[in-house]
Amino acid sequence: MWFCAACAHPWPCGVARLHLAAEYVGKGRTFAVEMAELLWEATADLERIGGNPDGFELYGRFLGWVRRASRPARPDTPAD
Ligand SMILES: [Zn+2]
Repeated sequence: MWFCAACAHPWPCGVARLHLAAEYVGKGRTFAVEMAELLWEATADLERIGGNPDGFELYGRFLGWVRRASRPARPDTPAD
């Protein structure tokens, strides 16, 4: 159903996003592809259970925040 098991909000909730972003630090492109695959999977699941998934809502939920979250926390820190 794509709800968070911990808080029951639509997944990925705020906490899940923090965990995901931490897991993919420095792997922004992989992160985006993984989240796109999950978006695809969620859309198929929601359609299968008879829902009428809103593509714009799902896009924002799965991908809209990924680029921002993938940026370094301190862009002034020189890369090594
Ligand atoms: Zn949650």
